[in-house]
Amino acid sequence: MTIFSKIIAGEIPSYKVAEDDAYYAFLDINPVAKGHVLVAPKKEEDYLFDLDDDTLAGMALFSKRVATAIRKAIPCKRVGVTVIGLEVPHAHIHLIPITKEADMLFTQPKKKFEPEEFKAIAAAIAANFE
Ligand code: AMP
Repeated sequence: MTIFSKIIAGEIPSYKVAEDDAYYAFLDINPVAKGHVLVAPKKEEDYLFDLDDDTLAGMALFSKRVATAIRKAIPCKRVGVTVIGLEVPHAHIHLIPITKEADMLFTQPKKKFEPEEFKAIAAAIAANFE
């Protein structure tokens, strides 16, 4: 079981922002920006492009809804999209609120938030999820 499957199963806590039958969205615990969200399929698959077509297509549509909620909740110009997947072997998409290109950089120092701040950020995004 991957760490993300444990999060999805509720065995490890997360700051959830959205969920449906097939996907789970939650705050990245080591964010490059305020409102940095990860979207993962509930189905366990390591590499994003090994997902079956329906799961991958559905993930894009679910991510669109999450990105729309992020943009309403967090001041930003756009929501950037990144796939890395070198650390956690469970497919996921990074959704990152940005106002400039440098906001996307994973090499910058990560942002630090207190648990209460993470909770408030997740709640603000969740409240805008449709
Ligand atoms: P990568 O697999 O390279 O896309 O990186 C995995 C991402 O997952 C990193 O940005 C981590 O900060 C994030 N991450 C790892 N463990 C957790 C966790 N328990 N909760 C939230 N985010 C996590």
